[in-house]
Amino acid sequence: MKIFLQFLGATRNVTGSSYLLEVNGKKILIDCGLYQERELRARNWNPFPVDPKSVDFVLLTHAHLDHCGLLPKFCREGFKGKIICTPPTEQIAKIVLLDAAHIQEEDAHFKKKRHEREGRKGPYPEIPLYTREDVEKVFPLFETIEYEEPFRIDNLINISLHDAGHILGSAMIKIKINSGDSEIVILFSGDVGRWNKPIIRDPSMFEMADYIIVESTYGDRIHEDPSNIKNILSEIINSTDKKGGNVIIPSFAVERTQELLYYLSELLYEDKIPHLLTFVDSPMAISVTEVFKNNEKYFDEDMLRRTYSDNSPFYFSTLKLTKSSEESKMINHIRSSCIIIAGSGMCTGGRIKHHLVHNISRPECTILFIGYQARGTLGREILKKPKEVRIHGKMHQVKANITQINGLSAHADQSELLKWLSGFKLPPKKLFIVHGENDVSLKFADIIHERYSWNVSVPQYLDKFTLA
Ligand SMILES: [Zn+2]
Repeated sequence: MKIFLQFLGATRNVTGSSYLLEVNGKKILIDCGLYQERELRARNWNPFPVDPKSVDFVLLTHAHLDHCGLLPKFCREGFKGKIICTPPTEQIAKIVLLDAAHIQEEDAHFKKKRHEREGRKGPYPEIPLYTREDVEKVFPLFETIEYEEPFRIDNLINISLHDAGHILGSAMIKIKINSGDSEIVILFSGDVGRWNKPIIRDPSMFEMADYIIVESTYGDRIHEDPSNIKNILSEIINSTDKKGGNVIIPSFAVERTQELLYYLSELLYEDKIPHLLTFVDSPMAISVTEVFKNNEKYFDEDMLRRTYSDNSPFYFSTLKLTKSSEESKMINHIRSSCIIIAGSGMCTGGRIKHHLVHNISRPECTILFIGYQARGTLGREILKKPKEVRIHGKMHQVKANITQINGLSAHADQSELLKWLSGFKLPPKKLFIVHGENDVSLKFADIIHERYSWNVSVPQYLDKFTLA
């Protein structure tokens, strides 16, 4: 029996998750993620380290782009096998991939025009990484299985998916390999979620695995206490309402928007905020919210109870889902006391830019950030509270109140990652630490080594290990 594990991404960096498991020649790819760090984006364009034609299965942990975003290219270049994931992951991945293709097509178009105007050539070709057509060719390859339901890859390999508590449908992947007289268990953590997060269930715990591949995004950090979120949110909404302004919230379409609606509906139910018109002004966030509505069986008990009471986060009376651009433009006329949730989450595109144009120069309004703002994004720039910012090619004075809530991360922090690892009763043969910035992964490795004296490794890009 020969088992190899090769690290094709998210090694000493956070995005581009992809791992190749080879068992007696059968090739299984775990995740096929897009690189999003500026300095690593060239890898999206490079040939895959493994020939897609030679891969038999792709197992998908969840629908975030950094885990599924290279699937259209992988399929275009010859992958013909099955993509195994949970039903919500399939549904959300389709939305996310179509949106990604749209952005890439648009970007390529604008870049081409700009380069023509400037008479120069950029470092990458002015073509989209993939198109809508490429994305649609991925869809027939999806095959869904439920959590905890065993799936047979062949007579030696069985896999199962387990709730990761990160986003709806997210999974940890357990792979059991029959090696004659014994069994080898390999466990991929995917993105580890959080305990007591709204809507979805807690991360699954495990007692035993021979090899563990664990993420480490926040391996060096403790998140802010989430119990403050509601208080801060209510304070911001009430004070902005008193001033007669709007609350503008740039939000990510997947999970973050739904979680925000959860908190808003709870504040309304508890009568802590006034009944303000609340717009979800993002076709993508609306589509993802539909997926949530159609997948109640993945909710936790609290969310299920709310769904069947008059306290559902997705159905309160002042909630308006504006899909068409005509409806969206109508919002521009509302000068006071509404809440506008729109994408993109870092203000790099989408309808949020229009709402910023209409509200950022008004001192009575609030721009509320609820997610991480990467370097080089408009969101990051606004957070620095400059005197003015450029939006859609025009300068706008920044007079609105600019503020941020930090406790909404979908990732386990250091204490939660350690809690997850504390479930294992026996040391693994090896623990691989991935999906973290270099220093963070190394620091987390030290902590685990000190605490458990386990055999820990922080692999480099393309490192290959023999597991059996
Ligand atoms: Zn994720």
